Amino acid sequence: MKKRFEVLINGEHCKACGVCLEFCPQDVLGVSEQRNKAGFYPVEVKKPEECTGCGHCALMCPDACIEIYRVPMEESVQS
Ligand code: SF4
Ligand code: SF4
Repeated sequence: MKKRFEVLINGEHCKACGVCLEFCPQDVLGVSEQRNKAGFYPVEVKKPEECTGCGHCALMCPDACIEIYRVPMEESVQS
């Protein structure tokens, strides 16, 4: 499946609370194996092609670490 949405996560601000993981219905997100500067293992995008752009993760993140963008149609066709 082509990627239709870009999920941007600010890994340096993520405190690894796991709320976004709980609320993603598509299981797009997972935990990084690398710590951030604060010592947390931040969330990262594991299955970008599964994102439906619902925005639940971005809405629920208490630290506003996540932004969702629609991938322009022509890019999603080419990629
Ligand atoms: S926008 Fe929805 S489907 Fe995409 S990562 Fe966030 S919660 Fe999951
Ligand atoms: S909800 Fe925000 S702070 Fe919590 S794990 Fe997800 S991205 Fe990190």
